[in-house]
Amino acid sequence: MSADNCLFCKIVAGDIPADIVYESDTALAFRDINPQAPTHVLIIPREHISTINDIDPGHEALVGSLYTAAREIAAAEGFADEGYRAVMNCNEGAGQSVFHIHLHVLAGRPLAWPPG
Ligand code: 5GP
Ligand code: ZN
Repeated sequence: MSADNCLFCKIVAGDIPADIVYESDTALAFRDINPQAPTHVLIIPREHISTINDIDPGHEALVGSLYTAAREIAAAEGFADEGYRAVMNCNEGAGQSVFHIHLHVLAGRPLAWPPG
């Protein structure tokens, strides 16, 4: 999917509403519309990147900033010590349904491993 018709680019642009919990120059985080845990936040880069397979070396700082966001959200929302999962699905076989990379941050219940 191109940036022109991308749901998460529309959230970045403010054209679709979202419950935003974090913003930086490079990243945006908002609550998942269909949460899979008591806390389920999606952290996205403002720049459109379709999948992990489209990340190149020039994106390293940008992708790193998604994890900085995860750390800050975990501290702000009080689940840093309890623990949480930060995971990114790549392509349909792994469950990716929105083709603008996003880090799922899940917290607030026991999280089994391996995941389904
Ligand atoms: P994926 O399946 O691509 O790893 O994750 C996509 C996530 O986006 C899903 O967890 C889904 O619930 C969430 N999602 C899909 N559409 C919307 C939306 O319009 N708003 C929000 N906040 N989340 C969405
Ligand atoms: Zn996009």
